[in-house]
Amino acid sequence: MSDSKHLSRMQRKKEVVDERISRATEERGVLILLKGNGKGKSSSAFGTMVRSLGHGQKCAVIQFIKGRRETGEYLFFRDHPQLDWHIMGQGFTWETQDRERDIEAAEAAWSIARGLLENPAYDLIVLDEMSYMFKYGYLDTAPIVAALNQRPAHQSVIITGRTMAQPLQDIADTISTVQDERHAFRQGVKAQAGIEY
Ligand code: ATP
Ligand code: MG
Repeated sequence: MSDSKHLSRMQRKKEVVDERISRATEERGVLILLKGNGKGKSSSAFGTMVRSLGHGQKCAVIQFIKGRRETGEYLFFRDHPQLDWHIMGQGFTWETQDRERDIEAAEAAWSIARGLLENPAYDLIVLDEMSYMFKYGYLDTAPIVAALNQRPAHQSVIITGRTMAQPLQDIADTISTVQDERHAFRQGVKAQAGIEY
């Protein structure tokens, strides 16, 4: 492509982008859903949280699946003065197989989340792996949708999980699907510190 053709193409592109930017004038919190079977949902949510913390904002994380307590992100963030980190108590894992206890734990985690969604001090709330609570019927979507709709206008929320309940998708501002094309695990690579947790 000639230089002049490239220049005129870039000028046209700039006009289109500038026009789109000038149309996006609203400033408010957003609901972001990160779904799909590929790797990168939780780590993307925590990456966004770094941005928020970098701007001096206040954040909270609730992890709805009891995993290893000592994930790298937990070790890195736990002492941050602008961040609360909650891990669901007797949380759901593939191993618990105790539906009653899982439901109790889900409800306890949800009651913490509900408090955060009413609190204007929080700018960003990450509800990590929350989608499993709906998939297994541990929580109803209706009260969560209501709380999300009523949250403070400046507050953003990120929900992660492989499958996402439709009522959440109906009210989300941004939805990204992380597609699984390949994963090292299937080639025999074990979960490694610093990569998987
Ligand atoms: P990450 O925390 O690395 O961003 P994720 O949140 O997208 O991953 P989850 O569905 O929460 O992924 O799965 C949790 C764990 O399973 C992570 O350790 C992740 O690396 C791993 N994982 C994610 N996708 C796959 C996959 N397609 N195959 C095998 N393991 C996966
Ligand atoms: Mg995850």
